[in-house]
Amino acid sequence: MPEPKREVTRAAEPSVQALLKALVAFDTTSAESNMKLIEFVVAYLDGHGIASTLTPSQDGTKANLFATIGPGGKSGIGLSAHSDCVPVEGQTWASDPFTLTARGGKLYGRGACDMKGFLACVLASVPLFTSRQLTEPVHIIVSYDEEVGCTGVRPLIARLGHDLPRPRVIIVGEPTSIGVIEAHKRIDAYRTTVTGREAHSSLPQLGVNAISYAAELIEEIDRISATLSTATNDRFDPPSSTVQVGTIEGGKAPNIVPKTCRFQWQVRGLPEADPDFVPKRLEAFAESLLARMRRVAPAASIDTLHQGSVPAFLAKPGSEAVALAMALTGANSTSTVSYGTEAGLFEEAGCLAVICGPGDIAQAHAADEFVTVAQLEACMAFLAKFADTLSA
Ligand SMILES: [Zn+2]
Repeated sequence: MPEPKREVTRAAEPSVQALLKALVAFDTTSAESNMKLIEFVVAYLDGHGIASTLTPSQDGTKANLFATIGPGGKSGIGLSAHSDCVPVEGQTWASDPFTLTARGGKLYGRGACDMKGFLACVLASVPLFTSRQLTEPVHIIVSYDEEVGCTGVRPLIARLGHDLPRPRVIIVGEPTSIGVIEAHKRIDAYRTTVTGREAHSSLPQLGVNAISYAAELIEEIDRISATLSTATNDRFDPPSSTVQVGTIEGGKAPNIVPKTCRFQWQVRGLPEADPDFVPKRLEAFAESLLARMRRVAPAASIDTLHQGSVPAFLAKPGSEAVALAMALTGANSTSTVSYGTEAGLFEEAGCLAVICGPGDIAQAHAADEFVTVAQLEACMAFLAKFADTLSA
């Protein structure tokens, strides 16, 4: 007697909007754990027979995820999203930021655009990917702590080509309105601490005013900024490297000569610019100030700490990643952005990267962040074409 055909009944697959709603409901502000979101993705992929590999953070409160669909033994193509979001504090939202809310063709929620929209599209495409005879693997990559200097993905990248496959091409799905981005600037973050000497404000000659010296350093930063604008690359907006001070704190009371002043500053460098140019210029200027400060207070100091950097991204000429994204979107030109992403880190690790994803960067990080239904549909079409390209 022939064996009866086994019926596989599968619950209806969740829609991309249902997946986005679930992802937005996890508060994955960078300061929070992303484990609930990661567990959700692990369970979803497991339901489709796909195993996940996690790379936990040192304290175990966060993790990166790497999962492969399709044949092993080939490098394959990665689809990469960060799981974390920027805070909602101080922003006025028309609806709860962690409840995806539809209004007039737009889906509002923290991370809807940057970049849970792309992750939802990737997850919603998993049934399509698994239904195909893929000629090479698709890797799903989910990182943490992207919004605080692209720090979270680094331990995962260190595993690529070792105990995890190194994707040949990686599509970073940051919001580009499905445009093809082939370059972005570099980010270097610094904190300068000026230490002078306290004194009664009626006897300022006995002190070294840290705030006044910090002000001189900041003026020098503005002068350096002016010289940066002479080296231009018209592919970027603005077309030159930039530097600016973002925070300042110092002093204890109006009647005390302040001993300490701290300020943070950032350089956004063109890919071809020397990243050491600005700190070296500032250091030379600081030396001249220190000579004056130490005449009064020999222990005075000016210390600049390099707090971190995000490498620039510049796709190689003829990059297969850029060609793939252009073919999938039908774009006949590429552009650049001024924000930083994980793409430069992937390129440094030997993967060819390109940035292409749903949503407009203008909505990212803002109150009432949204992605349009049309952008999600465009991304789903992009991923369907991607599946076709990779199918036997
Ligand atoms: Zn982002």
